[in-house]
Amino acid sequence: MPEPTMTPKEVKEKGLLVVYTGEGKGKTTAALGMVYRALGWNKKVAVIQFIKGKWITGDRKFAATQSRLSFSTMGEGFTWESQDLAIDKKAAEAAWEKAKGFIASGEYFLVVLDELTYTVHHHFLPLSDILSTLKNRPQELTVVVTGRGAPPELIEMADLVTEMKKVKHPFDAGLPAKPGVDF
Ligand code: ATP
Ligand code: MG
Repeated sequence: MPEPTMTPKEVKEKGLLVVYTGEGKGKTTAALGMVYRALGWNKKVAVIQFIKGKWITGDRKFAATQSRLSFSTMGEGFTWESQDLAIDKKAAEAAWEKAKGFIASGEYFLVVLDELTYTVHHHFLPLSDILSTLKNRPQELTVVVTGRGAPPELIEMADLVTEMKKVKHPFDAGLPAKPGVDF
């Protein structure tokens, strides 16, 4: 429900908190679909991926062509093959600081926190900090969080939650991930 004190303009322009979760494919794809739409309206967009992301993806290749899109992946910029959880935590914290900068800047229409739930499950980031940052974000900013197992507190706070449900996935038939489809 919009706050009773909001003007019609504020209600119209209110940013949403969106969560794409569940076991099925389509969480990141859905978030990137919103990015595509926002860019179509010449909005500024930031995507931060909370996964180890050294490999090249179509997502990143496309992002490099877009001047209004800032696209970053956790741990990029240094070689990162360690199995060291302390290093993973540091990388997650750095990515989160960057994300908080995008959120607080007031410059963006849409911020995507891809795979943020992963950092909560691994105790890399405190959920309380995530929740308060999202709650106190600029009013007009839409934030999309993706990842399996979204915490109940996040679901509670969100305006829009979709749970992807796997009906079939080609992986189960032994088919490999495909460029242009999966990455
Ligand atoms: P996508 O990026 O394709 O939208 P996703 O964000 O919903 O997928 P993730 O959990 O982030 O899913 O997993 C990313 C990769 O794992 C993708 O290559 C995707 O095809 C694959 N994947 C997603 N769901 C499944 C599944 N149920 N079984 C096997 N592989 C999956
Ligand atoms: Mg994903």
